[in-house]
Amino acid sequence: MIDHCYDYAAAQKAQGAKIVGIMCEYTPRELIMAAGGVPVCLCGGSEEMIPAAEEVLPSNLCPLIKSTYGYSATRENPFLEMADLLVAETTCDGKKKMYELLSERHPMHVLELPQKPDEADAFDHWLKELFKLKEVLEEQFQTEITDQKLGAAIARMNAERDLKRRLAGLMKSNTPPLTGMELLDLKSIISGIPADFEQYEMALKELPGRQIDPPAKDRVRVLLTGVPLPHGAERVMGLIEDNGGLVVCQENCTGIKPLIEDVDPTAADPMRAIAEKYFHLPCSVMTKNTARMDLMRQLVQDYRPHCVVEVIWQTCLTYDLETVHVKQLVEQELNLPYLRIETDYSPSDSARIALRLQALFEMSQGSS
Ligand code: SF4
Ligand code: SF4
Repeated sequence: MIDHCYDYAAAQKAQGAKIVGIMCEYTPRELIMAAGGVPVCLCGGSEEMIPAAEEVLPSNLCPLIKSTYGYSATRENPFLEMADLLVAETTCDGKKKMYELLSERHPMHVLELPQKPDEADAFDHWLKELFKLKEVLEEQFQTEITDQKLGAAIARMNAERDLKRRLAGLMKSNTPPLTGMELLDLKSIISGIPADFEQYEMALKELPGRQIDPPAKDRVRVLLTGVPLPHGAERVMGLIEDNGGLVVCQENCTGIKPLIEDVDPTAADPMRAIAEKYFHLPCSVMTKNTARMDLMRQLVQDYRPHCVVEVIWQTCLTYDLETVHVKQLVEQELNLPYLRIETDYSPSDSARIALRLQALFEMSQGSS
């Protein structure tokens, strides 16, 4: 995936396209595409980048933030090095302050997210922020983002979300034709690549009826929630599936969460329609974030997990504090076993996590 994305980005750049790094699912890729840009997700998932980051950043910081910064410190992420602009989203405090350091080497626009989505003026603030981003893209890339260009980008992203939703939907079956890890492997750090669409179509045709090994009937169905698992940081997913589990749904940002809603392609005002879709993303950086609990209820109904596993990157306070509500919902309302795993990118705790997962799966089999 990375090689393929690199070839695509390099070819696009050679033809005059601008590479735009993003680090959160709140950033509308549609706006970047409509400006002639290629949006690339730059969230770091590599443990190897952390020592270089810790020379500057505090060590007790989320590994995703450290790894992302480490790629800049080591200059080892070719996408970051070729980026014409970074869009830095004000999500958690750690990311916000890391961005200040990242901006010393990379051109950056800070996109301010609303914090209280239920307040009456939150949406207007968000819409204004998206208009500011539009202006920055137009100015820096010497282009005009017309409604027609936005319409084309909306259609492309909706088509991609539809394909990915259908692939994720295969896991609703009692006998899913792929594992959670295989589904996760189908992700890409660049959206809208036509060759990817062809591969997704092909997978949708060829996967139904396929048998996984060990078969689904011998595994415990797991709903995975919490923090995203960026490329390189899929270890917990592997541990779940190597110890008797099958991740039938990933609620997080590398799973179904950003795919749930499309941008209304018929809306008279495409900027407003884009703002609405992204405004509804239920992330823990918002207060309150009750929509995430509604999403969990729906996903449990659709994917029928036997248990819920929540992954928290160390020091991710927003997700960690939200575990109180998630645990309560899962155990008391949905009557499912729940396990919280706090970890980082180092494999040093893998054996301990495996033991806890085995105990969870035994309990889940007993109660299912
Ligand atoms: S989990 Fe929240 S902060 Fe992280 S990418 Fe998703 S929306 Fe952005
Ligand atoms: S996982 Fe948590 S701490 Fe890390 S970048 Fe995302 S919101 Fe911030």
